[in-house]
Amino acid sequence: MQGKILIVDAIATNRIVLKVKLKKAFYEVIQAASLPEAVNMARAELPDLVISALCLPDGGGAAELCAALGKAPQTEHIPMIAIGCQAEPAARIATLQAGVHDVLSQPVNETLLMGRVRSLIRTHNATAEWQMREDTCRALGLAEAAPDFDAQGRCVLVSDDRAALQKYAIQMRDVLRARLTMSTAGAVMQQMTEQELPDVFVLVLPGDPAVAMENLRLISALRANAQARHAGVIVLQTQADAALGAHALDLGADDLMTDGFDAAELALRIKSVMRRKRMSDQLRASVRTSLQAAVFDPLTGLYNRRYAMPHLERIAEHARTTARSFAVMVGDLDRFKRINDIYGHASGDAVLVEVAHRLRASLRGTDMAARIGGEEFLIIMPGTTLPEAQKAALRICSDVSGAPFTIPGSATPITVTISIGMAIGGSGEDGPVAVGDDTTGCALLNEADRALYAAKGRGRNQVKLSRPAA
Ligand code: GH3
Ligand code: MG
Ligand code: MG
Repeated sequence: MQGKILIVDAIATNRIVLKVKLKKAFYEVIQAASLPEAVNMARAELPDLVISALCLPDGGGAAELCAALGKAPQTEHIPMIAIGCQAEPAARIATLQAGVHDVLSQPVNETLLMGRVRSLIRTHNATAEWQMREDTCRALGLAEAAPDFDAQGRCVLVSDDRAALQKYAIQMRDVLRARLTMSTAGAVMQQMTEQELPDVFVLVLPGDPAVAMENLRLISALRANAQARHAGVIVLQTQADAALGAHALDLGADDLMTDGFDAAELALRIKSVMRRKRMSDQLRASVRTSLQAAVFDPLTGLYNRRYAMPHLERIAEHARTTARSFAVMVGDLDRFKRINDIYGHASGDAVLVEVAHRLRASLRGTDMAARIGGEEFLIIMPGTTLPEAQKAALRICSDVSGAPFTIPGSATPITVTISIGMAIGGSGEDGPVAVGDDTTGCALLNEADRALYAAKGRGRNQVKLSRPAA
């Protein structure tokens, strides 16, 4: 099924005509005849789109329905289209203002309607997916800050007809708070790699269908560009052309104006595309931040235990299939409690940060360092033989102990040392060096832990290799 659509109309014939069209395109269709019935059905069925008559019985209409859906979190982001008989401009603006995505006049052009339906459902599904990921992050306790919708946006009007753009820009000045600039399609193509991209592009299509079609290539170019693909795109047709409009939506335009320029309506559409873009930017950013928090230790920036353990298993598995050896090291700072006790917790933290810094500097790009406990670090070195690993471990020891640490709690730098336990997994050129058959990452980590214990027992600030039981 392409998606679930709720049709809301008091007139049964209208519902049936629309239902037939949507079913033909493989949409699942549900129906309601009044506003209260529509609200209940939307809550129960969670459709991907609502198509409502502009006017509903009992005085309400699409605008009121949109407001009612906006009150519940599960229905507030469901997109809406309204269909009415030659809506009064004021009623049309009021409906758009209420949050309805588009108002179409009867008789509805089927091509255009289906283009709209596809576009709104696609955007809704993409947002729902990010929303789901954010919900997952929140459930894991990784939620992030609330969005900032107040920042002023940037919008660019795009057309080769500079005179027309200037006329539009003057009229927009009074109704739009966003920063408005003008450009041509060619210039936008060239500037797409710039860091500071506008939030919304308004592509003004010329009357000539061939040139207009050519201009639509800009949408594909924006959508294919890593930086620009999340920008909002509004297509403004100076000449009505349903097929071209539907094509623009299919290419990825977020919104479409089919009946030429109207300052108030364009301003409204820019604002709502900008708001939706901000929301999805925020959603993506919050998922990204949450994923980072799930993987990295916030104090040192090293990987955390949650990431390191499955990574260790993957390296072990890879080593088994490639018959190459790898090293697992557990490093633990010596007498670290004393540093906290004497110089304070902040100094302890500063030591951890500096150790992480030295570890990173000491390792290759393919090695991985993680903070797996308070002052405990796991180092995994793939494709590494025993002699190489020993050399690396000794280097880490001397990188930590070799230069004193500057800390906030002490006027003079202090000396810090680390003990390292090491185990080798996989089989190297010198034949198998694994511990029996038990070559899982976890088993090797236990080996390395035992070796660390031995290094502590022998006086600290040294490297011990786990000796496999014969
Ligand atoms: P050993 O040489 O035997 O490893 O002695 P140690 O003092 O390093 O070991 P112990 O396990 O007794 O103490 C570890 C200390 O690390 C205790 C704990 O308060 C401290 N610690 C754990 N996490 C943090 C942290 O995030 N910041 C700071 N400053 N200290 C931490
Ligand atoms: Mg410890
Ligand atoms: Mg310690």
